[in-house]
Amino acid sequence: MLSLDAALAQMLAAAPTVSGVEVLDTACAGGRVLALPVPARVDVPPDDNAQMDGYAVRCADLTQVPATLPVRLRVAAGQVPGILAAGAAARIFTGAAIPAGCDAVVMQEAARAQGDSVQILELPRPGQWIRRRGSDLSCGAVALDAGQALRAQHLGIAASVGAAQLTVVRRPRVALFCTGDELMTPGDAPLPGRIYNSNRYVLAGLLRALGCDVQDLGIVRDNLGATQQTLQRAAADADVIVSSGGVSVGEEDHVKAALASMGELDLWQIAMKPGKPLAFGRVGSVPFIGLPGNPVSSFVTFVMLVRPFLLRTMGAVQVQPRSALVRADFDRAPDPVRRELLRVRINEAGGLDVAASQNSALLSSVAWSDGLANIPAGTAISKGQMVHYLPLSELAGPP
Ligand code: AMP
Ligand code: MG
Repeated sequence: MLSLDAALAQMLAAAPTVSGVEVLDTACAGGRVLALPVPARVDVPPDDNAQMDGYAVRCADLTQVPATLPVRLRVAAGQVPGILAAGAAARIFTGAAIPAGCDAVVMQEAARAQGDSVQILELPRPGQWIRRRGSDLSCGAVALDAGQALRAQHLGIAASVGAAQLTVVRRPRVALFCTGDELMTPGDAPLPGRIYNSNRYVLAGLLRALGCDVQDLGIVRDNLGATQQTLQRAAADADVIVSSGGVSVGEEDHVKAALASMGELDLWQIAMKPGKPLAFGRVGSVPFIGLPGNPVSSFVTFVMLVRPFLLRTMGAVQVQPRSALVRADFDRAPDPVRRELLRVRINEAGGLDVAASQNSALLSSVAWSDGLANIPAGTAISKGQMVHYLPLSELAGPP
């Protein structure tokens, strides 16, 4: 059996890079990966500015308090300030540029307005309540690096340096199909011996959340011809092909034979639970990843292997999910040979509860969980022990 790490390393090494970029309005670039860096062409903020409503002063004018200063300027946010004469104060508002000559802002709660003057009640420290020019980003710096997956906060950074458009990697086209004679589509009347195709919804949803363009090739029956035809169609246009089911070694599993006749395939036994069988190969030059059919296995292999693979094809810098050490509030016997990815959920005490059943057919346990506990083979878990927790927000969300 192959270790999960070794399987991932082999997949990442074989991941092609999606070529092609798109230029999008910054507001529409969320969930995409930057193809070109975004330089800061301005200082953010562009001037020293006030962090409080109050009075801009020169500290040298104030040696003791209370002290009364004439108010000679008024500066609101968006206005260009004048120069403040020595021995005077400027009325100033949050976000307004600091007038030349001032070196502190006295918040209005520490001052008392008296007609055209102000009484300063507390001695200011030099620099107090002033946000320095360029303290967020300085002109010439790289505001965002290529390979950055764009979340709302990154769009905000781009906007703050005035970038109206961003150059992002084109969406990878991913062909998806689900194998199985037993599969029906929701909307079909239930039939004996048949089940609804849930993997299609899970996998298409995960792919779309990653920013992929999904070509849904539907259900493929368990025979060699249908599998070959579908692979042919998929390879014509897709960057990557993903399937579910049919990768075990039963005689109803045709993915291996189809790939053998049309491309290359390794059928891996990965030392992970759930998700042991996984097919990795190519049809022509198009990578193919065949996930196991069991709903939990296909979910877990997708988030642990397919997601990093696709992120690599998009040129994302961060492809591996970040885990945190969290206390296990459960006991569990070790699996002697396989790494376990347990469905878990954070409880109110900040520890982890484990799903009652870890059976790989039970999608309800995935829906219940908010993450996976990553347990090395041969490791027993006892209550109170710290374990590596992978939140689903890292595993199943946007890049
Ligand atoms: P397989 O990997 O094809 O041997 O399938 C393993 C198990 O997963 C079987 O119980 C299948 O019925 C089930 N299964 C396969 N594909 C799907 C699917 N698309 N949706 C729900 N269950 C599936
Ligand atoms: Mg099957």
